[in-house]
Amino acid sequence: MKNTTNILLIYTGGTIGMVKDYKTGALKAFNFDELVKNIPELKQLDCNLRGVSFDEPIDSSNMNPGYWAQIASIIEEHYEENDGFVVLHGSDTMSYSASALSFMLENLEKPVIFTGSQLPIGDLRTDAKENLITSIEIASLRKKGRPVLREVGLYFEYKLYRGNRTTKINAEHFEAFNSLNYPPLVESGVHLKVHDNYLIKKVTKNKSLQVHKKMDDRVAILKIFPGINQNVLQSVLNIPDLKALILETYGAGNAPMDEWFLNPIKKAVENGLHIINVTQCSGGSVFMGHYQTSEKLREMQLVNGKDITTEAAITKAMYLLGTGVPDKLFKTIFETPLRGEMV
Ligand code: ASP
Repeated sequence: MKNTTNILLIYTGGTIGMVKDYKTGALKAFNFDELVKNIPELKQLDCNLRGVSFDEPIDSSNMNPGYWAQIASIIEEHYEENDGFVVLHGSDTMSYSASALSFMLENLEKPVIFTGSQLPIGDLRTDAKENLITSIEIASLRKKGRPVLREVGLYFEYKLYRGNRTTKINAEHFEAFNSLNYPPLVESGVHLKVHDNYLIKKVTKNKSLQVHKKMDDRVAILKIFPGINQNVLQSVLNIPDLKALILETYGAGNAPMDEWFLNPIKKAVENGLHIINVTQCSGGSVFMGHYQTSEKLREMQLVNGKDITTEAAITKAMYLLGTGVPDKLFKTIFETPLRGEMV
């Protein structure tokens, strides 16, 4: 019997589809048909594969909210006739894109899996084949006539993670990503091991996919460091029309207690800037009030980023501002998990 699972590959660019420009030695993107030609194994997969490509595939360092809207539009346009989506994307900003799309695609009932590779598809030792083939297999998984995964995932080097929990941790190793605050959803060995307990289970009955394409870029990230001075802080807080600031603090959400640091922050919050306290540690959570060095931040009504990644925090802020969430509700909604991105 012919398999009727339809999977759409969305090719945005990245190393996975790059070839060497022999004149300059630099890697540059090449086209989708070439990519598929390089993996004849794709024809053996038990699903119907189709592909859509960005007109000009990009290195993901050029990623921006406009491209996220393009990915979201492609998914929206092809949602009904497909059972799953695999997005081929550069690894550099993949965690940002997977986080952004998780927010942009509300009531998602089908898998959207981001993948890429550290070595180009044409390279003998490439990791692209395994990443791509397994991503397609995971996107095709079905149980009782429904897709097993109904969220945005990121597959790399034998593990599928929740996309908005990931961070790129290595520019060299094949294991380029990690998800320190949430376990893998699927592990690939001899068999695909699906960890059902960790999947998003919420059944969004009678709610159809809602695609939010407006991301507000009036946001910034400030990572504090010993030696940070007033000029640095002031210049960030004085960015014209800034609406939300991700403040990357130490450990469990701690920051200096100097007045030159705390007073301008207090004033900025009073003037309506949403400041989100996120830890600069790769794992663990903000716990404001646990130490004296975070107590003031809690009193000042900083938004508690809990265990969210910086990638998910910045894209969540862009999404919430883009949907026009009233200022009064921003803190409450930000502190609520919307797509499994925080506890
Ligand atoms: N610079 C590349 C990109 O992010 C790296 C990769 O694909 O892994 O597009």
